[in-house]
Amino acid sequence: MSNTNKQESDYSVAALLARGDYKCACGKMHRAIIKRAVIGAGVIAQLPAQIALEGHDNSKKVFVLADTNTWGAAGGKVAAALQGAGIAYTLYCLDGSVRLEPDEHLLGSIMLHWDLSCDLLVTVGTGVLNDMGKIVAGVARLPYIVVGTAPSMDGYASNTSSTIRDHLKVSVDSKCPDVVIGDTDVLTKAPDRMIQAGIGDMLAKFISVVEWHIGNIVAGEYYCPEVVAIMTTALHKIIDAAKGGLRTHETAAAVMEGMILSGIAVNYAGVSRPASGIEHYFSHIWDMRYVEFNTPCDLHGIQCGIGTVNALRIYELIKQMKPNREQALAYVKSFDYGAWCDVLRKNLGGSAEAMIHNEAREGKYDVTKHAARLESIIARWDEIMTVVNELPAAAEIEAFLKQVGAPVSPAEIGLSKAEERFAFLATKDVRDKYIASRLLWDIGELDNVADTLFPV
Ligand SMILES: [Zn+2]
Ligand SMILES: [Zn+2]
Repeated sequence: MSNTNKQESDYSVAALLARGDYKCACGKMHRAIIKRAVIGAGVIAQLPAQIALEGHDNSKKVFVLADTNTWGAAGGKVAAALQGAGIAYTLYCLDGSVRLEPDEHLLGSIMLHWDLSCDLLVTVGTGVLNDMGKIVAGVARLPYIVVGTAPSMDGYASNTSSTIRDHLKVSVDSKCPDVVIGDTDVLTKAPDRMIQAGIGDMLAKFISVVEWHIGNIVAGEYYCPEVVAIMTTALHKIIDAAKGGLRTHETAAAVMEGMILSGIAVNYAGVSRPASGIEHYFSHIWDMRYVEFNTPCDLHGIQCGIGTVNALRIYELIKQMKPNREQALAYVKSFDYGAWCDVLRKNLGGSAEAMIHNEAREGKYDVTKHAARLESIIARWDEIMTVVNELPAAAEIEAFLKQVGAPVSPAEIGLSKAEERFAFLATKDVRDKYIASRLLWDIGELDNVADTLFPV
């Protein structure tokens, strides 16, 4: 076996879970939350065995959450597996013909259909359904198994749920599934758009890991090279598989595995750094605007794929730059944060308030902190460039996304140039995370990049 193959097998989900908790060279104790993952053709047949491993009492029932689409995709196999093993279940199947919003109404609807004689939750689905399942299982303190129906987003093995609460898009703490089942007989039949979204959500990791490293260089953030190696190994596996076709068992398995690894990487790091950077923030801003103003939006991973192409173009401009102290200090001095808050409020409505509130605590725009960051940027620019040079070319990733049929520009999902420009400028305010737009603000080049890449 070649060295490359050995490395790949070391970073498979099975190998990492078999390794258990371990103290890493980065100084951190790495611990995965998910207990088991079963990926392959026909693996839904293993559902009863996985339910038994979770201590299900056969005098009780299993609660099954699905919608008409996901039940249509995998319900027959799930029902046959449960019935074959004599496991009684209560099914709550939502109407999949309408867009499900992860809000109070949907969560309340699930709770009102709950069956107290159940001691375990199985969600058949992905995205919103899994986000709700993670919350319900967390609140009810029950074992939780998700049977994936599409390799569409990397939330399978995470302990947070994306929701709309009080009309605002927020991420809330929830329960990581104990077991993820990815049956490639089902995953290969998922809609094209959902497979493309999964690939977009994974390509995003090229940016995430590079920005994590830059955050380490500029702001002294915690960073783990092994977690980065786990993500990049998974990414290359996905690209190699997808070149052989979008709808193959190999691609479905590689994308599903990559998504679970993304959850494990975030658990290991204790921060979302390995899985999201500026490309995700483009998507978050578009989601926030959709919730506030009903502007166009698309699947999370589709938006992340577009954000990834944008991010690569931004870094290609950064590569041509050399920070200038006077220019940076003058830019920051003339920056009017109050005026910028008005722009945020106008474009994000209620969601802007949380960002503005957080800034009061984080001090991202504090001039003293800026001056310190600027000195480390100037002193370590060559190191930053070495990290940026690890990124693939924008044209290469754009061609790859096109090859799998995914959109590469905001216009393709109905967003205007103004939406793109605003999203870029607002990415720096989403969270206290050091990303490309923060670096550009620090060196006084933010508006120049906006004018070059996102003119209106
Ligand atoms: Zn580590
Ligand atoms: Zn994502």
